[in-house]
Amino acid sequence: MNWRVDVAVHTPAHSALGDLLSYRHDAALPKGTLVRVPLGRREVLGVVWRSEADADAAAPASGEALALKPIGAALDTLAPLGEGWRDLVAFAARYYQRSLGEIALSALPPQLRDLTGVQLARRLKRRASLEAAADTETTGPADGTGIPALTPEQHTAMAEINAATVPFLLFVSTGSGKTEVYLRCVAELLERDPTAQALVMVPEINLTPQLEARFRARFETDFGAGAVVSLHSGMTNPQRLASWLAAHSGTARIVLGTRMAVFASMPALRLIVVDEEHDPSYKQQEGARYSARDLAVWRGRREGAKVVLGSATPSLESWYRSRPAEGADPGGNYLRLAMPSRVGAGALPTVRTVDMNLQPARTVLSGALLDAIGQRIARGEQSMVFLNRRGYAPVLACGDCGWKSECPHCSAFRVFHKIDRTLRCHHCGFAERVPRACPACGNLDIAPVGRGTERLEEHLGELFAGVTRPDGSVVRIARIDADSTRAQGALQSQLAAVHAGDVDVLVGTQMIAKGHDFRRITLVAAINPDGALFSSDFRAPERLFSLLMQSAGRAGRDAAYLAAQDATAEMWIQTHHPQHPLFAALRRHDYTAFAEQELADRRAAGMPPFAFQALLRADARTQEAAQAFLNAADQRAVSLPGTERVTRYPAVPLAIQRVANVERAQMLIESPSRAALQQLLAQWQPLLQALRREPEGKGVIRWLVDVDPHSI
Ligand code: ADP
Ligand code: ZN
Ligand code: ZN
Repeated sequence: MNWRVDVAVHTPAHSALGDLLSYRHDAALPKGTLVRVPLGRREVLGVVWRSEADADAAAPASGEALALKPIGAALDTLAPLGEGWRDLVAFAARYYQRSLGEIALSALPPQLRDLTGVQLARRLKRRASLEAAADTETTGPADGTGIPALTPEQHTAMAEINAATVPFLLFVSTGSGKTEVYLRCVAELLERDPTAQALVMVPEINLTPQLEARFRARFETDFGAGAVVSLHSGMTNPQRLASWLAAHSGTARIVLGTRMAVFASMPALRLIVVDEEHDPSYKQQEGARYSARDLAVWRGRREGAKVVLGSATPSLESWYRSRPAEGADPGGNYLRLAMPSRVGAGALPTVRTVDMNLQPARTVLSGALLDAIGQRIARGEQSMVFLNRRGYAPVLACGDCGWKSECPHCSAFRVFHKIDRTLRCHHCGFAERVPRACPACGNLDIAPVGRGTERLEEHLGELFAGVTRPDGSVVRIARIDADSTRAQGALQSQLAAVHAGDVDVLVGTQMIAKGHDFRRITLVAAINPDGALFSSDFRAPERLFSLLMQSAGRAGRDAAYLAAQDATAEMWIQTHHPQHPLFAALRRHDYTAFAEQELADRRAAGMPPFAFQALLRADARTQEAAQAFLNAADQRAVSLPGTERVTRYPAVPLAIQRVANVERAQMLIESPSRAALQQLLAQWQPLLQALRREPEGKGVIRWLVDVDPHSI
C-alpha cells in the first residue's frame, strides 16, 4: 500500500516550488513526523504536514502516489511535532510572508538536519539513560532558604496572574523584583501540574547566565538536574539539540531562551514569560523577520498558556494594548499590573542634565561630571559612562584636502580603530590599515573626527591618571563593547571584573546598559544621547527613553551599599536640549508621562500602534533598478481588492543607501487595519514573485517584506 505524504522542506526563498512537496511512503505517517526526503540530489530534513490518511488531503489516484518519490526515512523514534507547534509555524509563515518550510525547518535545531534515523535513535537512548540517572539525584523538596517573602506588590501581581487568562503586562520599576515574580509563577505552575512546561524568554544571550543560575538554583533541587534548559544561538549544535530534545520530550520543565526559543517544541506549554518585552532584539532582522514577543502572545492564546510580558519601559504597542477602560473605550485586551516600588534597592537615581550649550565648544565631558566621577573613584565607588558608538573615532579626515575615510563599498564612513590601527566599515566589514598619509594629497596630518568608546576610554584614562583609589592604587578604566567582547568568554570575564570591584570606571555602548545587576555603581552617565531626539525614525525617542531608563536602573541597586557609603545614586545626561520633554519625564522617572505624550503624537500622525505597517524592500546593483522594482510592485497593487484601505508610500533609498556595493530602496505600506494590510500582502506576494522574472525585476538581487518593521 502506498500513501501520499505532503512534507514541509526548506525550499529556497521565493522559489517556484510550493510550500509542501509530495512523497510516497508504505505506511501512513502522522502529521508532525520528521522525515528525510530526497530534494534534487540531496536528502533533506522535512516535517510531514499532511498525509493521505487525513480528511483534508485530496485523495490521489493510486497511480499518482506511485509516481511520487519515496521518502528516505521516517525519524519516528521521535514523537511527532504537535498541532500547536504546527499551527504556530503556519501562522508565522502566513503573517510574516515566508514559506512554511523555511519557518518550520529554521525552528528546528540545526543538528537535527544532519542526523540519520539510526544516529537519532542512539542519541535518544543515551538521553533516556542519562535522565534516569539524573532522576535519582533529586534531593527532595527544597528547604525554602533564600526564597524571599513576597512584597505586597509582588503578591498582588501574582494573585492577578492566577485569576485571569489574558496576556499580562507587568509594568515595573527597575529592581522591583519582577524576576522573583517570574520564578514564583513558574514554581506554582510546576507544583500544580506535574507535566506543565514554562517558556521564559530574555532578549540577549549575555543576560542569560545570571538568570539561568537563578532558575537552576531555584528548581533543580525539586525537579531534577534536567528540569531547566537553555536555548540560544551562543550554544554549540549538540547543546542546542540536547535542549531541544528535552523540551520536546517534556523532560525539561523550563526552557530559558532568546527569541528563537519561541519556536521550541513544548507539548505541555502552560506559561510564557517575555522579560524586557520592549527590547528590539525580539525582532529578527534577517530571513523571516518575526517578532518573538508578538508570536509569544499568539502562541499563548493558541495553546491556552498564560503570557506575562515584563518591562520597566514597555513598548508603546504593549502599553496601548494594556490601557484601562475609559468612557466609551473598552480598554486594551492585555491586563496591566504595576509594581512601582524597588525592593532592596535604594531610591531611583537623581537625574541631572548638563546643558552642553553652556560648555566651551567641543567639550566631551563637562567639568561637573568629571568632578562627580573623580569623587566616586576616590571613595571606591563605580561609575558607568556610555556612548553608543564603538571604535576610536567615526571618521578619519584630512584637514588639507577634505579627504574622509569613506568606505568604497558603502555610503558610510569607515570607523578608525586605534587598537589595531585599522579603518573598518561597520556595515560591510571592509577593513584596511590606517594610511600613513592622506591617500588623496599625501598630507601627513590626518586626524580622527568625533569620538567612540575607545577614544573615550583613552581620554578618561588621561583625565584621571592622577586620581587614586581609597587604597592608594591607580584608577582602573575598562571598556565593554562589541569589539572588546569578540573573543569567546571575554564578556563574561569583563563583567566578572566589574562585579568583583576591579573596575572604577566602565565605558561602553548600550551593551552595558541592560539588565546587569552591578552592586557598586553609583553614577551612570550618557555622554551624547542627542542624536535620537531628532531622528527620522519615529521609534528613536522610544528607544532612547527606554535605554536611558534602563541605564539609570544600573545605579544604586543596593540600598545597603548606598547607606554604608553614605552615597546617592546619580544619572547624568549631557545634552544640547535639556528642556526636551523626554528628559523632563526621565528626571521624574515617569515612563507613563512619556508614553502618554508619545502615544498622543503617534495617534495624531496615524502611526503605530494606531496603524500597521510593512516595508517592501528591494536590493539591486543600481538605485534605479531597486526603485523600478518597487514602482512596478506599486502598480501591480493598484487593482488588488481592499487596496483602498492601505496607503502605499513612494519608494525611497534606505538611510544607508549602499552597503557592500548593493543599492537598497524601500517602500512603506500602512493601514489602520491589520487585516486589510495582511490581505493586501497575501495577494501581492505571488505578483511580486512573478515580477522578479519580468523586465522591471531585472537587476534586482533580492527583495523582502518586513511586517511590523522596527525601524523605517
Ligand atoms: P528585577 O528583575 O525587577 O530587577 P529581581 O527579581 O532581580 O528584580 O529583584 C531585584 C533584587 O531584589 C534581587 O536581588 C532579588 O533577590 C531581590 N528581591 C526580589 N524580590 C524580593 C522580595 N520579595 N524580598 C526581598 N528581596 C527581593
Ligand atoms: Zn588630503
Ligand atoms: Zn562598507
